[in-house]
Amino acid sequence: MKKPVFGSGWKMFLTDKEAMNYAQRLKENIPGEQDAELFVLPSFTAVERVTAILAGTDINVGVQNMCWEEKGAFTGEVSVLSLKEMAVKYVEIGHSERRTLFGETDRTVNLKIGKAMEHGLVPIFCMGEELQEKEKNLAKELLSIEIKNALHGIPYADAKKIIYAYEPVWAIGMEDSAQPDYAQEILGFIRQLLAQIYGRSEGTEFTVVYGGSVSLKNVEKLISQPDIDGVFVGRASLSIESYMEMLDIIKDSWSKKVKKQRGDDEN
Ligand code: PEP
Repeated sequence: MKKPVFGSGWKMFLTDKEAMNYAQRLKENIPGEQDAELFVLPSFTAVERVTAILAGTDINVGVQNMCWEEKGAFTGEVSVLSLKEMAVKYVEIGHSERRTLFGETDRTVNLKIGKAMEHGLVPIFCMGEELQEKEKNLAKELLSIEIKNALHGIPYADAKKIIYAYEPVWAIGMEDSAQPDYAQEILGFIRQLLAQIYGRSEGTEFTVVYGGSVSLKNVEKLISQPDIDGVFVGRASLSIESYMEMLDIIKDSWSKKVKKQRGDDEN
């Protein structure tokens, strides 16, 4: 049975010392098995030490980027081979900040997804429209292009392991998230599109999550949407109190949703 996803992207907000302190607090507060798929994405420099601190907990560690090649003249890049040596499980690919500030393209996203899958890492594939595209009603068109380009040559067996993170660019780093019904509409569309690309009927096997200014005030409504399998959170996950409270809301809201869906299926 699916568990709700709760991913926490630390961007470049924490120094290594701060990241280790935070990981230590997570370990103390979330020691046991969890009814949620949890991961945190620290900066590269903190990954090994955060992984060591979180060993034995249900919180996995990932990175925020990687190179599409394994070795060679790629100054400043990080190889998937090094990530494997560090026992990294997840890799974020195509975040809007990487696209706009560091020149990530659909082509490199596609190459990185392929390389990550070849080595058994789980890609968190980020996608989302800009405000102008939303205003022109082009979000679905843009997302179709991003998704088809990113999945070019990726077989179904791999595609169903990816975490698809819909992060509308206009909702990242803001006061509030996208409206839950808008997020639902788009994530439902993404699920259907994935099903269509891979010739499946409903696409329930794909994991589709929402990201962009998720906080304590909106997480419950977001998780209760039928097509939202979890959330990917930036700033609001950087305080342990807010993280803990959010985790409780996610688990609770998820179990209510599952009960409701079962009831609907039986009727
Ligand atoms: C993000 O950039 O992936 C993100 C979700 O950030 P925030 O929650 O801070 O908007």
